[in-house]
Amino acid sequence: MNAPVKLRPDQVAEIPNPLARLREPFSANQISKLPKESRAQADERKAKREAGVNCKVCGGWHHKNAVHLDYVGHAALTDRLLDVDPQWSWEPMALTADGLPVFDKNGGLWIKLTVCGVTRLGFGNAEGKSGGDAVKEIIGDALRNAAMRFGAALDLWHKGDLHADTDDEPGEPKTPAKAAASNVTKGAEAPKPPTLAERANRLEAALKAQTTADALRKAYGLASGLCADLDLKDPERLAEIEALYEARLIDLTEPAPKDDFGISDDEIPF
Ligand SMILES: [Zn+2]
Repeated sequence: MNAPVKLRPDQVAEIPNPLARLREPFSANQISKLPKESRAQADERKAKREAGVNCKVCGGWHHKNAVHLDYVGHAALTDRLLDVDPQWSWEPMALTADGLPVFDKNGGLWIKLTVCGVTRLGFGNAEGKSGGDAVKEIIGDALRNAAMRFGAALDLWHKGDLHADTDDEPGEPKTPAKAAASNVTKGAEAPKPPTLAERANRLEAALKAQTTADALRKAYGLASGLCADLDLKDPERLAEIEALYEARLIDLTEPAPKDDFGISDDEIPF
């Protein structure tokens, strides 16, 4: 009989953690754009056709000042899960007496996602939609949410807040709470948070400074919190920034073949 193999600590440290693969960034072609309208924008677009735009960024029809959020579609996420663990699985948190998933009273679904033997919970919903497509959407949303608990596409979820101490986040200052907290440890006086206009100027400069479409998308994606603030308080400034972003994105993007432009069913997050 062979004695059980015992690894030295340095050998253990060399074993890669397969779950770390889930945290690796997704490439630009795996990241899709989800337009996000405020309720007022949606109402305005429905009332007046000229408030809408046939968007060059996401290919959709929405209010001309809507912001875009980056997201990883269902197919790209499934591809990543299979890369990391071909045996990955998910199951609903609870089943009815008929063996069907139990939805909560808001129509949402709690799931368990298991990757490499580790199980984490996720929640998905479809914001009031119903029908078969809504169920598929809810499942995709729950998987994205659970995979985020493993770090998948985490940078797209945290909207620039998680690594606010690094300097690569244009337009997105530290939150006052964070700035205050880091200053407690340094014993310094808390700096005055920048005004909305200053943050917008900073984002504008950052958008002008980017030299690749990827970097531009990243800079803009990290500023989604700022864009949401502008949407509420200074929609005209937001429109200027959105126009700048879209113009620069067109400048920096190679023209794509037309049939690459559509989003497949599987990728639609809503
Ligand atoms: Zn769009």
